[in-house]
Amino acid sequence: MSRDSKPEPKKPKGDGGLLNERTQVVHNEKLALAKENHALVSPTYTSVKYYFEKMEQAEKLVKGERTGFLYGRILNPSVRELELNLARLQGTEDGYCTSSGLAAISNTLLGLLRSGDHLIYMWQSYKPTRGLIHTLENRFGIESTRVSVLDHQSIEKAIVPGKTKLMIWESPTNPQLEIADMEFLTSLCKKYSLISVLDNTFSGLHNHRQYDVDVYIHSLTKFASGHSDAMGGAVLGNTGMVNRIRWGAFELGDNFSPREAAAISKGLKTYFLRYAKCAENALDIARFLKTLPKVKNVRYPGLEDHPRHELAKKQLKEFGAVIMFDIEGNKKDTYRVIDSLQLFKTAPSLGSVESLVLPVDLFFSGYLDEAQTKASGLGESGIRLSIGIEDVEDLKNDLRQAISGSLG
Ligand code: PLP
Repeated sequence: MSRDSKPEPKKPKGDGGLLNERTQVVHNEKLALAKENHALVSPTYTSVKYYFEKMEQAEKLVKGERTGFLYGRILNPSVRELELNLARLQGTEDGYCTSSGLAAISNTLLGLLRSGDHLIYMWQSYKPTRGLIHTLENRFGIESTRVSVLDHQSIEKAIVPGKTKLMIWESPTNPQLEIADMEFLTSLCKKYSLISVLDNTFSGLHNHRQYDVDVYIHSLTKFASGHSDAMGGAVLGNTGMVNRIRWGAFELGDNFSPREAAAISKGLKTYFLRYAKCAENALDIARFLKTLPKVKNVRYPGLEDHPRHELAKKQLKEFGAVIMFDIEGNKKDTYRVIDSLQLFKTAPSLGSVESLVLPVDLFFSGYLDEAQTKASGLGESGIRLSIGIEDVEDLKNDLRQAISGSLG
């Protein structure tokens, strides 16, 4: 449209003359770009409703005989674009976005399982995942067995042939940073025809694609978004599996906003740059922490003394942004160190440009028995760092001053 051109007043269907301006303002003009003229950034489709000019086309869509859009909760173009971009990154055929990472997990479990089914999960799983599975067991009759991701014998023993339908795990785990043996777990799932579900949030979208995983789950709130201003989740796999989850849990009404999709699509453009910087900083800081007095048990899969470092090297391109360590002290000392940090903000989540810190006991223990709590290493002296993209020397100086200033 040129600057001076005026849109034609709209005519109603049929004959009937010009529309009143009150009607026109509701049925406003839509600007279509010329075929050879493109926006560099995709438009954000905030429209909840989509229409066809002919009923025949609408009927085809409802009957699944054509693709298209009808209602935002079912499918949205901006969301769909992100789904396909995420799938390409993870190396899967298809994807499905949810309102949060936890919704991706709950949609997957509720979409694939029914009461009486059995699933296997790891006690090192993300705390709300443990809570969700506890709820599914207690209120919805989905049975489960919890094992250690490191205990291969117990994992295989937990399988009840015919009844166990699914296994879910993470790697590295949050926040202990244990490394799951991907080859072992995926082969076991194939051997017993279990659906393998990997929560790949910690590793990121460019890791683990070489393994035969049925469902990759991501919290897009983390590395994909990267800027602490958008929430979302993704379920990635082949189209058949993704559709089983999308439609199997459809009536739960989960909805991923196109505005969040736009923010995450923007974040995704710098995904590799951010991830590489976070991981480079994290390795540097993990090594630095090991040199500080009053710091012990520094855990980062990229450290040579991590118990499964060789496996991590084989499985991962980079080792992520999260470090866990203990201080020599009690809960008060831990809180004092955290409160003394200036650059690290005391906040949940990970994979953002900002560096963050949390005490592990308060945030990650729970839904564990006594032995697991002990083995988890989630004590009152534990601290989790999520490393951002700031200058690494500034981050080290901040840690040095907080630890030496608080613990002497
Ligand atoms: N999975 C893991 C491993 C996480 O760390 C998190 C969040 O911290 C989630 C899932 C849940 O993601 P969201 O916060 O987007 O619901």
